Amino acid sequence: MADNQKKHDPAKKAPKIQAVSRMKEIMTNYYIDAKTAREQGKKVAWITSGGPVEPLIAMDVIPVYPENHGAMIGASKMGAQLCEKAEEMGYSRDLCSYARADIADSVEKTGPIGGLPEPDMLVCCNNICGTVLKWYETAARYFNVPLFILDTPFVHREFSDSARKYVLSQIYEYIGFLETHCGTKMDYDRMEEVGRLSVEGTGLWQAVLDTCAHRPAPMTAFDAFFHLALIVTLRGTQTAVDYYRQLHDELNQRIANGVSMVPDEKYRLLWDNLPVWYKTRWLSEKFAAHDAALVADTYTSAWSGMLPDMNGQTFLEAMAETYTKVYINISIDMMFDIVANMIEKYHVDGMVMHSNRSCKPYSLGQYDLRQMIMDRLGVPTLIIEADMVDERAFSESQIDTRIDAFMETLKS
Ligand code: SF4
Repeated sequence: MADNQKKHDPAKKAPKIQAVSRMKEIMTNYYIDAKTAREQGKKVAWITSGGPVEPLIAMDVIPVYPENHGAMIGASKMGAQLCEKAEEMGYSRDLCSYARADIADSVEKTGPIGGLPEPDMLVCCNNICGTVLKWYETAARYFNVPLFILDTPFVHREFSDSARKYVLSQIYEYIGFLETHCGTKMDYDRMEEVGRLSVEGTGLWQAVLDTCAHRPAPMTAFDAFFHLALIVTLRGTQTAVDYYRQLHDELNQRIANGVSMVPDEKYRLLWDNLPVWYKTRWLSEKFAAHDAALVADTYTSAWSGMLPDMNGQTFLEAMAETYTKVYINISIDMMFDIVANMIEKYHVDGMVMHSNRSCKPYSLGQYDLRQMIMDRLGVPTLIIEADMVDERAFSESQIDTRIDAFMETLKS
């Protein structure tokens, strides 16, 4: 530990966010529902984290997110063991650790919830990466279930009309796929209502993140990583809307009462890429010991970026653009614009980039992005190398030293 770094003082910790217990209750009920879907006469669809979930909700299909489950595996520190198992099964260590851990757990069922509920169908959208295509093809063969692939073109500068027509036509094919495999017709009034709830929930999620523009911040990105779960899994439901309204009220109350998550917040940092799930507490205490709060991150804000510009369109029409322009399906120039906006909005002093061994689309352009941020905005930036789930890629001593050195630069 560096000399001018505080020792962690538990007595000085900020009060916990009360909404956490409600979140745990909702997620427990959600997984019980998904695990007992067959007994309730419901179907389960596995869907990628950036995939359009709203048609599933409208058709009363329970969406399950293998990536969310991968995050649970990481947070439970079961990642290395399951990744090793996948490697024994023949999967390369270079494959995303969410995919490796989930594939191994489908067979072993030794993860935090004893394996995911088995799917009746799979929905894969390649707006986040190409890995999911092969991962879902493997799952379709293993479970012998139908797979729908939604192809979203990469966005270099703008979302063209031809791209809009291309994606929208697939959204209608997606609905046809659901109608075939559910044996019922889509209720388009219900679809619009789910869309309205999705927009409302996403707007509330943005409002939750925006409370951190306040100095000092009532929560940090480490809290956002936890509270993200509902906007991913239950987007388009009243449950998510009610929960984020409760959380937003609580955070505003913390601001009114002068409660900050980092007690002596002096430095405000922006995090880039997925969390290091098995080290969130260690990293949070490490930065807090330097009076540094991670006030924003590009990962959790990617879901508030899904707030569609309705512009007189139906929700289904707006979905085509919203789901294509997600954070890791756009050019470095567009990413830079988003990051520059966040740096200004959240009053950021420095940026910490997680170069994530697993997530190539998130990590490949980071060195260019870092250079642009330093050259054009003069914001100091640290890169740490790790993996979101596979603990074998995390060197605590090396990262500890690099954070200390970075914080010394910020303080000088
Ligand atoms: S490679 Fe990245 S985007 Fe793709 S599944 Fe893994 S973590 Fe998600």
